[in-house]
Amino acid sequence: MDNKFPGKDISLEDLKSKFPLAAKKNKKHKSKFTIAGVEFGGNKIPIFAGPNMVESKSLILDVAKNVKKIGAHFLRGGAFKPLTFPYRSKKYNETREDGIKWLGIAREKFNIPVITEVMEEKFLPMICEVADILQIGSRNMQNYPLITACAKTQKPLMIKRHYGSSLRDWLGSAEYALVEGNHKIILCERGVSVAHTHRSTSRFLIDLQVVPAAQEITHLPIVVDPSHATFWRPWVHSMALASVASGADGVMLEVHPNPSQAAVDPLQPINYKELNSLIKKMDTLAQKVFKKRVK
Ligand code: PEP
Ligand code: MN
Repeated sequence: MDNKFPGKDISLEDLKSKFPLAAKKNKKHKSKFTIAGVEFGGNKIPIFAGPNMVESKSLILDVAKNVKKIGAHFLRGGAFKPLTFPYRSKKYNETREDGIKWLGIAREKFNIPVITEVMEEKFLPMICEVADILQIGSRNMQNYPLITACAKTQKPLMIKRHYGSSLRDWLGSAEYALVEGNHKIILCERGVSVAHTHRSTSRFLIDLQVVPAAQEITHLPIVVDPSHATFWRPWVHSMALASVASGADGVMLEVHPNPSQAAVDPLQPINYKELNSLIKKMDTLAQKVFKKRVK
């Protein structure tokens, strides 16, 4: 096995035979494409911002208006939610078809493109009417029939890395999408599980090393989601800056007007004021170090 690559479970042979479409053709090869007018893989570092869950129409309209004004490029939010436990009080209820409709209203009203999660193929036609990017959640990263169905729509796809998966597994999932002729595939690092070492401080550990590791072998853009990775608002700011510093091609942030009132994962969203300050700092860092822009 040739251990030329830092993702040590990936060999040169793997690159050629297992993910010929995801693998870089040469050192400089990088996917460049636009989604709803936003460039990926170029001089922009797009920001995805929004609540964990599309809780209500009023919430998503308020968030869309504010994150757009602050400078985010995409509105995020799940109407279909893969929650870790099945028990849902009224507050936790997924908003499902209603939530998708509200995302559509927010998209039109505030002219902001939308990314939202797909959990079941049967809802794809409805979600495709609204979503500019389909999100494959970490829990579905190896749900190949779902990835194939989403990819076949030719809508851009974001594949979140499962918290237990290797780079090799992650690229395998991307290859399932690419093989359908869909070239607008984005990868998203969202923190990995830590069995022992880090457990006392965090549920997940942000794997920023995977950014340069993945960029060395794949041409696909890599977004980092420090909200899910840290699971803890006070750490989001520094880890978002660190995501930009790692060379990430985009950053996903959970944003809520009243973070402690968020229906899902209330410990991790930042508020509008924090988003504003963070975007400014990420932009300064991106400009000064990488000659890129966040805004
Ligand atoms: C999300 O982004 O809303 C989400 C559920 O993320 P993950 O799949 O990474 O847990
Ligand atoms: Mn979540």
